Amino acid sequence: MKNTKKCPKCGSDDILYAKGYTGGYGAGSNIMYGVTIFSAVDVDRYICGNCGYIEHYVKTPDIKVLRNSKKIKKYE
Ligand SMILES: [Zn+2]
Repeated sequence: MKNTKKCPKCGSDDILYAKGYTGGYGAGSNIMYGVTIFSAVDVDRYICGNCGYIEHYVKTPDIKVLRNSKKIKKYE
């Protein structure tokens, strides 16, 4: 969706974008990997305007941050 600008489920090109953010007390669209809001990475969302399917993305540099976190584990 992010790259194709099309929904992989229904094929619609009506895609909405919600930029990730971190507000007070960790509110917003993010992943907390520590104790405070200073250890959160923002999660951008792409929403299909037709069927409601959602894709989530963190920014590429943030992947490394999450990988190095004790709270985030590799899914095996
Ligand atoms: Zn869709």
